[in-house]
Amino acid sequence: MSDTDCLFCKFVSGELNADIVYETDKVIAFRDINPQAPTHVLIVPRKHIASINDLTDSDREEIGNLYLAAKEVAKEAGFSEDGYRVVMNCNAAAGQTVFHVHLHLLGGRTFSWPPG
Ligand code: 5GP
Ligand code: ZN
Repeated sequence: MSDTDCLFCKFVSGELNADIVYETDKVIAFRDINPQAPTHVLIVPRKHIASINDLTDSDREEIGNLYLAAKEVAKEAGFSEDGYRVVMNCNAAAGQTVFHVHLHLLGGRTFSWPPG
């Protein structure tokens, strides 16, 4: 279920400390160390899944839970109605650097489209 070499699994297990802002029995959400917006939170399943390419049918709920958590964090941060961005990168071309699936929740400013 967890990968001993995975940074985000270490946040999930508590072996390393993260600035956790929200958690359930299925997900944790913590502040990104290099924020790209006034609020930049990473939302990860407690289960280790390396990337979108590794998802299986049995992971539907794991991924759905990430979006439900994003909604709650946005509400608590106060920008639900203004709007916010939720992004998941997959592999090198998209800039994925940590191979434990995670949603980036960015809010508190206006975003342009398309992203760079
Ligand atoms: P990715 O590039 O894989 O989509 O996103 C990985 C994110 O993890 C990056 O935004 C990066 O700033 C963040 N990150 C990398 N190392 C750490 C860390 O040690 N702590 C926290 N809180 N975030 C990290
Ligand atoms: Zn992991």
